[in-house]
Amino acid sequence: MKFADLHLHTFFSDGTFSPEELAGHGARLGFSALALTDHDTVEGCARMAAACAEADMEFIPGAELTAEHRGTEVHLLGLFLDAQNEKLRSEIAVFQAVRQDRIREMAARLNELGVPLEAESVFALANCRSPGRPHVARALVKAGLVRNLDEAFERFLKKNRPAWVPKARMSALEGIEIIHQAGGLAVMAHPGLNRTDAVIPDLVEAGLDGLECFHTKHSTAMAERYLQIADQFHLLVTGGSDCHGFSKGKPLIGTVKLPYAHVDKLKATRTSRVAANSKPLQSQGS
Ligand code: AMP
Ligand code: ZN
Ligand code: FE
Ligand code: FE
Repeated sequence: MKFADLHLHTFFSDGTFSPEELAGHGARLGFSALALTDHDTVEGCARMAAACAEADMEFIPGAELTAEHRGTEVHLLGLFLDAQNEKLRSEIAVFQAVRQDRIREMAARLNELGVPLEAESVFALANCRSPGRPHVARALVKAGLVRNLDEAFERFLKKNRPAWVPKARMSALEGIEIIHQAGGLAVMAHPGLNRTDAVIPDLVEAGLDGLECFHTKHSTAMAERYLQIADQFHLLVTGGSDCHGFSKGKPLIGTVKLPYAHVDKLKATRTSRVAANSKPLQSQGS
C-alpha cells in the first residue's frame, strides 16, 4: 500500500527540519510521495526535490498561503506549483515583506512592555524569508526572556495577548488565482481546524480544486464529513500531517498516510489542466 504526506514544513518557514532531514524521515517511514508546503515560500523546494530524488520518493512542490474569505481565515495549499513562476515569486515576496514588518511590530510591542527583544535577533534566528510567531517565541527563549515557547505564547504572542499582531491575509479568491497561474492545484487546508465550511461553495465557484480531508488535527468523524463534502462538490481529496519538525513536540510526519490513489487523481487533474492550457486557442471550446 503506497501513501503520501502532502502538508509539510521545513526551516524555510516555521518548521525545524531541513529539507534533507524531512525527506530522511519520510523515507524511513515508507512514504512514496511528499509535498513541501512552507508558509508563503517555495524556497525549500529545490533542495527537497533533490533529497526526495535521492531517497527514491516522488516530490510535489507546494506552498501554504494564509488567506481569507468574508472574514473567515482560510489556509490554501498550492500543490504542483512551478516554483520558478515569476508571478508566484513576486506575489509571495509581498507577503514575505509583510511578515517581516509584522515581526518588527511584535518586537516594538515587546519593547514597550519592557522586554528587550530586537527584530534583528528574530531575523537572525529565523534565517528565512517567511518568519512568524514561532520564530519570535524561539528568539525570546534564546535571549533568556522567557523560560519556554509556551510561556512566550501565553504571556505575549497568543491571540489578544499584548504582543500579538494579526497576520495579513490575502483574499482567498486571489490566492486560488495565484496558485492556478503557477500551474498548481488549490486545496483548502485543514477545514476542520479553521471552521471554513461556510465558505466552501464560494471557493469552489472560484476554482478550488481540493479539500484536505485528512489532517493530524481532524478526528475520524471530521475526515468522514470532509470526504462527503469533497464528494458533494467534486473536489479532490488530500491529506497531510502539517509536520513542523520538533517545534511542536514530537514530529508529526507519519501520523497521516494519504492513500496514493489520491495522488494519482491529483496528477491526472493537473495533467489534463496543463494539456487544456497549452492547446492552441482556435481548437479550444470546439
Ligand atoms: P503565525 O503564522 O506567525 O501567526 O504563527 C502561527 C504558528 O504559531 C503556528 O504554527 C502555531 O502552531 C504556532 N502557535 C500558535 N499558538 C501557539 C502556542 N500557544 N504555543 C506554541 N505554538 C503556537
Ligand atoms: Zn506553520
Ligand atoms: Fe495552516
Ligand atoms: Fe501548515
